[in-house]
Amino acid sequence: MSNEQKKYSIDTQCVQGTYDPTNGEPRVVPIVQSTTFTYDDPDLLADLFDLKASGDFYTRLGNPTNGHLEGKMALLEGGVGALALASGQSASMFAILNICNSGDHVISSSSIYGGTFNLFDVSLRKLGIDFTFIDPDASLDEIIAAAKPNTKALFGETLANPGLTVLDFEKFAAAAKAMDVPFIVDNTLATPYLCRPFEHGVDIVIHSTTKYTDGHATSVGGVLIDSGSFNWNNGKYPGLTEPDSSYHGLRYVESFGKAAYIVKARTQLLRDYGNVMSPFNAFLFHLGLETLHVRMERHSENALALATYLSGHSKVEWVKYPGLPGDPYYALAKKYLPKGQSGILSFGVKGGAEAGKTLVKNLDMVRMVVHLGDLRTSVLHPASTTHRQLSGPQQIASGIRPEMIRVSVGLEGIDDIIKDFDNALLSV
Ligand SMILES: *Cc1c(COP(=O)(O)O)cnc(C)c1O
Repeated sequence: MSNEQKKYSIDTQCVQGTYDPTNGEPRVVPIVQSTTFTYDDPDLLADLFDLKASGDFYTRLGNPTNGHLEGKMALLEGGVGALALASGQSASMFAILNICNSGDHVISSSSIYGGTFNLFDVSLRKLGIDFTFIDPDASLDEIIAAAKPNTKALFGETLANPGLTVLDFEKFAAAAKAMDVPFIVDNTLATPYLCRPFEHGVDIVIHSTTKYTDGHATSVGGVLIDSGSFNWNNGKYPGLTEPDSSYHGLRYVESFGKAAYIVKARTQLLRDYGNVMSPFNAFLFHLGLETLHVRMERHSENALALATYLSGHSKVEWVKYPGLPGDPYYALAKKYLPKGQSGILSFGVKGGAEAGKTLVKNLDMVRMVVHLGDLRTSVLHPASTTHRQLSGPQQIASGIRPEMIRVSVGLEGIDDIIKDFDNALLSV
């Protein structure tokens, strides 16, 4: 990534960032749908295997199309490197497994995506990693009090799906500093256009690129991004500082400095677990990023307009949108998401869960889908779908109420979106 590109505004970085073709090369990032790459010198290939030289040799470990997506994501977030993965779930899993072994402990905000909660609370627990979930509104002292000698990371979500809590970065970063552990954040709903967590003390960022990065609901993918700012040399992360027996005793921090974490995630975890992103999907995500700035602006504008309309409707009991004055997270949203608060809002219709289901059935243009971040407006009833595996108390802790409808506000004309909700609300 050239220093020249770091000087551009984020709008220009979205459009032009990192891909810089020379004479006769394609103007648009090409899809390199090849599993492998040829070399005529065995010693060169040996150096690639030993990480002494850089270059692609097998797509599970690296591919030029994926590389362009990784470069652009690292540029937009302001990190030293990124790793494209098969899904957002893979990115969350890698973020933790890259630094935690059986016997380690992680503190996470309880207001996170339901899939992440299950990954942590069930699947990673089975591997021997312990999790403590804390209310994102807990005080600094309460967060620090959850620390144990084996605590290795602090996790939260910028704008939580679907609780719509806004993370207090300053407080969480202070807690992570006090515990001397990395602060890991899922920035999926905000995107780097609306919020750059590394500017607020975050060390590692993950995205489900399935959502706003894609923006058109075509592909599942994820990305892990390293700020390069955490000092791993504090005795807690032997996987990064001690010799890796699967790489002839290589020490990641010693050999790769600020990029140690992201190099290890690729060369060890991706090599062994194999959660690779398809180059075709990387192409689509890269294409999505080229319009991210324009889309996020309009998603935010439309969501605020729909939230304002719904909050004035006599059949609507409550509306949750952090950009709405009076929302409990309004002040944090203004502080950390000043350009817009993204396209997700939730609301409850008077009459509880049944009235909510009727409303969803009454909608015409707006469809019910298990997704968000698409340019088409969609709705979902989380309690009966995405969060049904959680218990009642777990649902409440994740910010889910039984009557709640989540709206992913798209890019259609706002008058048409409002009209669809207006008609649907007539007969609930
Ligand atoms: C969807 C989502 C994920 C999981 O991503 P997948 O690409 O579906 O695996 C993680 N975090 C958030 C905030 C999400 O919305």
